[in-house]
Amino acid sequence: MYRLNDSDTSLPTIPVHPIGYGDAQHLLSELGGDEVQDTWKGGLNITYRYGPGFTNPNRKVKMSIHTSREIRTIYNVIGVINGAVEPDRYVLLGNHRDAWVYGAVDPSSGTAVLMESARVYSQMIKKGWRPRRSVMFCSWGAEEYGLLGSTEFVEEYQKILGERAVAYINIDSAVVGNYSFVAKATPLLQQAIMDATKKASLDSNLV
Ligand SMILES: [Zn+2]
Repeated sequence: MYRLNDSDTSLPTIPVHPIGYGDAQHLLSELGGDEVQDTWKGGLNITYRYGPGFTNPNRKVKMSIHTSREIRTIYNVIGVINGAVEPDRYVLLGNHRDAWVYGAVDPSSGTAVLMESARVYSQMIKKGWRPRRSVMFCSWGAEEYGLLGSTEFVEEYQKILGERAVAYINIDSAVVGNYSFVAKATPLLQQAIMDATKKASLDSNLV
């Protein structure tokens, strides 16, 4: 694979580091400048302002950040069930595995769904069932850093995926907020999603 130099990539040139909301609240609550527009206001009990700088111009922030610049090995874990009728057509289910912190919602709630789906599929296969098309369960590494795991996979198998992949379903944060169903997809999949949600609500009525 041809590799770009770091300077050619889209990696940000401004140092960025995630912080907890407790630290963020201290910093945000002391920002100067005008009050932000409504859509920029967050959930903290403070007045949100644009900045730049703090209300006290002598205020300074010193951050000690312990991150190192090094090459690391990343892993994708792929499981495949061969289809019974169209084994050369692939349906991919995927989620990333790396997280910023503990990853309870992002990505582990999605990984729980991915793993449970794989377990249920394997139970059905033991009873003699086979999917029509091949199903691939994909657990990606290094998503948070810039979708690196899945990108490497697609770059390596671009030709074969271009010819054979039917759909890719991404999970990521499967459970967050209230119980509203949320799906985003290419327009081609709209009807498939509508049909699937109708089946799901029908099933829960039966239970
Ligand atoms: Zn995620």
